[in-house]
Amino acid sequence: MSRRFNFCAGPAAIPEVVLQQAREEMLDWQGHGLSVMEMSHRSPEMVGIAEQAEADLRELMGISDDYAVLFLQGGASTQFASIPLNLAAADQTADYINTGEWSKKAIKEAKRYVNVNVAASAEASNFSTIPAFDSWQLSDNAAYVHYTPNETIGGVEFFWTPEVKAPLVADMSSTILSRPVDVNQFGLIYAGAQKNIGPAGLTIVIVRRDLLGKAQGITPTMLDYKTAADNDSMYNTPPTLAWYLAGLVFKWLKGQGGLQAMEVINRRKAEKLYGYIDNSGFYRNPVEVASRSLMNVPFVLADDALDKAFLAGADEAGLLNLKGHRSVGGMRASIYNAVPEEAVDALIAYMQDFAQRNG
Ligand SMILES: *Cc1c(COP(=O)(O)O)cnc(C)c1O
Repeated sequence: MSRRFNFCAGPAAIPEVVLQQAREEMLDWQGHGLSVMEMSHRSPEMVGIAEQAEADLRELMGISDDYAVLFLQGGASTQFASIPLNLAAADQTADYINTGEWSKKAIKEAKRYVNVNVAASAEASNFSTIPAFDSWQLSDNAAYVHYTPNETIGGVEFFWTPEVKAPLVADMSSTILSRPVDVNQFGLIYAGAQKNIGPAGLTIVIVRRDLLGKAQGITPTMLDYKTAADNDSMYNTPPTLAWYLAGLVFKWLKGQGGLQAMEVINRRKAEKLYGYIDNSGFYRNPVEVASRSLMNVPFVLADDALDKAFLAGADEAGLLNLKGHRSVGGMRASIYNAVPEEAVDALIAYMQDFAQRNG
């Protein structure tokens, strides 16, 4: 077996020790004689796994009892509809900040259910910046304010939390667990699991309890947060295997020293990579320095005719999934929690070598 370094934006790398533990427990979970994916979701074993995962996530992120933690399906994309349906009446206005591809998708979907005010947009800079807070045109009575703290495709990240009157809603799909956040500043945080949590198929929603129970009448039962909150996310069959694996990742994160320790590692990884790119004279990252993502590092080569050769050589060097998103081209290295520092070192060594041979 030879595992290579995986820079995929999602589904993304999972810590190797987690995969090993999952393998150990695959056929016979802790002496119970069956695998996790064969357990009834209502069995004491699975309920125990589920509760432990939630407790560990609460501890990692410092989530108080004022918040429900929901383990859902449908990906972050389903939340683009669930959020307006749950948090606003059809005639209410919600403010959205447009910082790139994922914001745009959230905006488009929300428009089906509420009035949307795009309070700020980075379109003029081709989404290489974060609009300054004093330029935001927030509504007086917004039902909520939605933003995308880390744009996975553009590689643009907020390093500050907007202070707004309305409940703040954040799509943290590609930044959750990468560093500490003060959950109390948010009305709702959501994330698809397949970037920094675990395998695809699980979506986590952290929602302040006072926001529950106000869903629009047309809201499907399965999309009403109250349904999930009242049933411990087991109104129907939840994604049990993904939930279990997320739990193993939470334990791993605790073993690493929690989110403060992860932030130190993640900053070091990102600084190395951006530092090399900036000094290379061959590669370029388009994002303003203050808003460069710690998790997703897009870059272009001096000559895009070399892209194919770069990717083929990377593959041979054991560096997987460096191709940029189809909408923007170029390259992208996603360096989530589970991507070790050695992977970043190996990537930089390859980039140096490639630039030397082609520069
Ligand atoms: C990946 C991603 C999504 C989409 O997630 P799905 O789970 O595939 O629906 C949405 N927002 C952000 C910021 C993402 O990175």
